[in-house]
Amino acid sequence: MAASNGEKSLIVSFGEMLIDFVPTVSGVSLADAPGFIKAPGGAPANVAIAISRLGGRAAFVGKLGDDEFGHMLAGILKQNGVSAEGINFDSGARTALAFVTLRSDGEREFMFYRNPSADMLLRPDELNLDVIRSAKVFHYGSISLIVEPCRSAHLKAMEVAKEAGALLSYDPNLRLPLWPSKEEAQKQILSIWDKAEVIKVSDEELMFLTGSDKVDDETALSLWHSNLKLLLVTLGEKGCRYYTKSFRGSVDPFHVDAVDTTGAGDSFVGALLCKIVDDRAVLEDEARLREVLRFANACGAITTTKKGAIPALPTESEVQSLLKGN
Ligand code: ADP
Repeated sequence: MAASNGEKSLIVSFGEMLIDFVPTVSGVSLADAPGFIKAPGGAPANVAIAISRLGGRAAFVGKLGDDEFGHMLAGILKQNGVSAEGINFDSGARTALAFVTLRSDGEREFMFYRNPSADMLLRPDELNLDVIRSAKVFHYGSISLIVEPCRSAHLKAMEVAKEAGALLSYDPNLRLPLWPSKEEAQKQILSIWDKAEVIKVSDEELMFLTGSDKVDDETALSLWHSNLKLLLVTLGEKGCRYYTKSFRGSVDPFHVDAVDTTGAGDSFVGALLCKIVDDRAVLEDEARLREVLRFANACGAITTTKKGAIPALPTESEVQSLLKGN
């Protein structure tokens, strides 16, 4: 149900926000890059901004360094209409940084500054429980599960949100280089699997989590659990597949000239959550769900047409133009 004043209900996105440093020229190794530009990101923060840009109400909960970059990131959330009340600042650790490049040989190189970074140090007793309790949807990833004390903060926030009646939404957003091992990543990502009512995985994550080399219904359904209301598998330029207790199918993609796919999945999730937060019945109505997923595919597609994640997240009117043209 929407808030009584007609305002949209709140979606709280929990986890990390950081700065990606990307080379000023493409195709070079980190060592050869002549310079870097700042690209704010972190999947949960991208999702919050995606929601706000579409006219929804979003808050971000997480921890940043009490430094220039941490305050810059909090400012970006606020400029984009995302509530920053749930943000803590750590005076002892820096805001997380990631240097990232796609070399000309197609290999991605990463270098993380998380030794530890502020986001990893969020403690359960620091959580702004009022913000979390106001959520109608509580969304999270898996990077916040990697180390303590953030892991315990994540588990507590999920529990508090659930008790207050929020729908739990999970996009694991696998970042293998951040985990101690593949086995640990798989085990911890799946350790909270049965809590979420909406789960989105990419085709690659589906294969990683199941150990299968196929992206088919049988593999997807092996991830089904009885609390789940909607399982989504996004397929990049091939669109997405959906699974519920009573129906399943696929929704075609939009064809666009993709220049940078960063943030497509976050844009897709933000769009979905924005459309279901005040209308959970969509999850039980296939025709309406397909419309919502068409909208989410359009958001994902638009996000690939510009460099960077946050600058590329669309407004409602940009999405409507794409939908009308197809
Ligand atoms: P993730 O970023 O989590 O890996 P995907 O790359 O699967 O997620 O993208 C999410 C959604 O964005 C897809 O389901 C699709 O609708 C849209 N999308 C992504 N890449 C493209 C593309 N190259 N062309 C058109 N749509 C895309």
